[in-house]
Amino acid sequence: MAWKGFKEAIVFKKVQEDKNVSSFFIKMKDGSTLPSFIPGQYIAIKVKMPNGSYSKIRQYTLSKNYNEDFYRVSIKREPEGNVSKMLCDNVNEGDVIEITAPIGKFVLKDSDRPLILIGGGIGITPMLTMAYDAAPKGRKIHLIYSIPNSDCHSFKEEIESFRKYDNVKITTIYTRPFEKDEAEKRFDLKGRINKEWMMENLPVDGDFYFCGPEQFMRAIYHNLIDMGVDKEQINYELFGPGQDITK
Ligand SMILES: Cc1cc2nc3c(=O)[nH]c(=O)nc-3n(C[C@H](O)[C@H](O)[C@H](O)COP(=O)(O)OP(=O)(O)OC[C@H]3O[C@@H](n4cnc5c(N)ncnc54)[C@H](O)[C@@H]3O)c2cc1C
Repeated sequence: MAWKGFKEAIVFKKVQEDKNVSSFFIKMKDGSTLPSFIPGQYIAIKVKMPNGSYSKIRQYTLSKNYNEDFYRVSIKREPEGNVSKMLCDNVNEGDVIEITAPIGKFVLKDSDRPLILIGGGIGITPMLTMAYDAAPKGRKIHLIYSIPNSDCHSFKEEIESFRKYDNVKITTIYTRPFEKDEAEKRFDLKGRINKEWMMENLPVDGDFYFCGPEQFMRAIYHNLIDMGVDKEQINYELFGPGQDITK
């Protein structure tokens, strides 16, 4: 059952996904089952500090398909950030954190249209739960993941595993690949996602969901509008404070 406010939960597993991103697997401290969520939703987290005060509250998107026993959130460590740095550096297996039930309006809507999921960096987290939900249903999906290079390539095997679905296409973009990334062909496309590539590769009649750094999102939004994609088909979420990417 969903609850109001915060409840205690335990981190029972922590995984380093790449240089900066840690995944936290969380279950309820009282052993209760977890409420289901709509792909794209997030939970809010706060942590009690040794002096008894609480950390600031931050939102983290659920990054794995629903399981009544645990949630996974994946957090990028911001070197100057208040909460993400503390969570990534100091919260470990066995530690208690406080979480809300899942919330959020950036969710996958029912539709038969092709689904285009575009994640920039840690903005891949909502795309993962959306892909987990839509891929087995046979919906045509293009999952696009843009990251600087192999140092930041979280969820590599997990995303590759979606290739088992014939209806899923994956494009990995490295904006600043290392020489070894080029030599080992670790990506499909080099540089920034641009309008020409989008026009050639993405269907105008698709449903678009994207999340990532502000400039990345602004560029994608305006490219979609220029391509003639209907605003109804454009869905996005900003992880930071609310700049208007449509301007
Ligand atoms: C709906 C939603 C879902 C989200 N989902 C995720 C998710 O799945 N994964 C994830 O990692 N994040 C997610 N976020 C972002 C997350 O909630 C936090 O905003 C993020 O972790 C940064 O919080 P923080 O307290 O570490 O940084 P803050 O202290 O809030 O700082 C924010 C930014 O300012 C910079 N900054 C702070 N202080 C300084 C300084 N003195 N000098 C220079 N720069 C500074 C930090 O580097 C950071 O980039 C989500 C946000 C929203 C709104």
